[in-house]
Amino acid sequence: MDIRFESIGGNSDWRTRLSGMSVPDCVATDSILSSCLQTLISGGSISSEVGISLMHHDSLSALCSLASMVKKSRFDNRVFFNENLHVNTTNICVLACRFCAFRKGSRHPEAYALSAKDFVERIEPFSNRIDEVHAVGGLHPDWTIDHYVELYSTIKNAYPDIHLKSLTAIEIIHIAERSGISVKQTLQSLLNSGLGSIPGGGAEILVDSVRNVICRGKETSSEYLEVHAIAHDLDIPTNCTMLFGTIETLDHRIDHLVKLREQQEESGGFQCFVPYPFLPDRSRLPEAQLASSSEVVRMIAVSRIMLDNIPHIKAYRMNFGDHLASLCLTAGADDIDGTVGHEEIMHEAGSMTSVDMESESLARMIASTGSIAVKRNSTYTKFSIFENSIGTQQILPVYGQR
Ligand code: SF4
Repeated sequence: MDIRFESIGGNSDWRTRLSGMSVPDCVATDSILSSCLQTLISGGSISSEVGISLMHHDSLSALCSLASMVKKSRFDNRVFFNENLHVNTTNICVLACRFCAFRKGSRHPEAYALSAKDFVERIEPFSNRIDEVHAVGGLHPDWTIDHYVELYSTIKNAYPDIHLKSLTAIEIIHIAERSGISVKQTLQSLLNSGLGSIPGGGAEILVDSVRNVICRGKETSSEYLEVHAIAHDLDIPTNCTMLFGTIETLDHRIDHLVKLREQQEESGGFQCFVPYPFLPDRSRLPEAQLASSSEVVRMIAVSRIMLDNIPHIKAYRMNFGDHLASLCLTAGADDIDGTVGHEEIMHEAGSMTSVDMESESLARMIASTGSIAVKRNSTYTKFSIFENSIGTQQILPVYGQR
């Protein structure tokens, strides 16, 4: 099987469109940015060396102008969101990543582990207004593949039309190890039980020397990529992420982007890249350098320019808030995640973003950036437009479908 997501939900001729766009002076007169533009137009990718120079570029606004051009060449002025609910399966985890404020030991008074029945009850109040459940959790010491097969089967029986986006790479490895089966067998069983796609969590920084400090014991960089490659081989779409602002260097961030781009070249199933900064509350990483708002915007812009074969770049509002996320929509991001309903992982670490937003409010936020809000499904194959962000929906023809 071969899934290729170079342009889902967008213009497959984006490089040609880019060549026909008017170039703002700040890009045209800048040797690095104009050279990046020509590289992308001619079908090339930005090298690591140039990527590092973008991380140091002295004009963030010019960088954002180029990133915004690239975004518009792919998606015009459309910005995507979906109607989803986050449910965490358990906060009990056998690992203790130093950046993680979410995990608890199994004897902790706030530790929990949802049964399949509990999980369905969490979905029920939202079930008539969502089409996706995003479910990740800790590495439970006892749960094997049987638990997840029962969980997914129960959810799909109750809500057959809700897409299940679930499990990080390390959860999948943990389930496989606990069950004595391969990652491929694990994914095949989960797929048969109703798994629809895999979120990108757990990538952190794909440099093992950094991982050894911030999340020792977690999967290696190559194991993260391998799990996603196996999923792509099984025709399971996945996302990929980056946690920045811990102890990594700017070079490490570029290494991370290049590794994702190379993996996408091989297996082709990444739909969306989701970079987000480390939030320090209740974590155990006092040496973290943290990331400023302008660094977040820069990371979005550089990601858009570097990741020419991953179609969507998400401004993850659950992590960095609605105001900064909407600003990122003018710096190359084309997606702002969803209505969410409930969120624990980022809020335990200090996020103040409001959860359970109405679609109309999200659409209005998108419109405030001069963009058209487009509601999407989980795999970017069905779209409806929120006209003028007043809640009027119009079904869009699918374009750029895989
Ligand atoms: S990040 Fe995931 S694997 Fe690491 S401690 Fe937290 S829940 Fe466990």
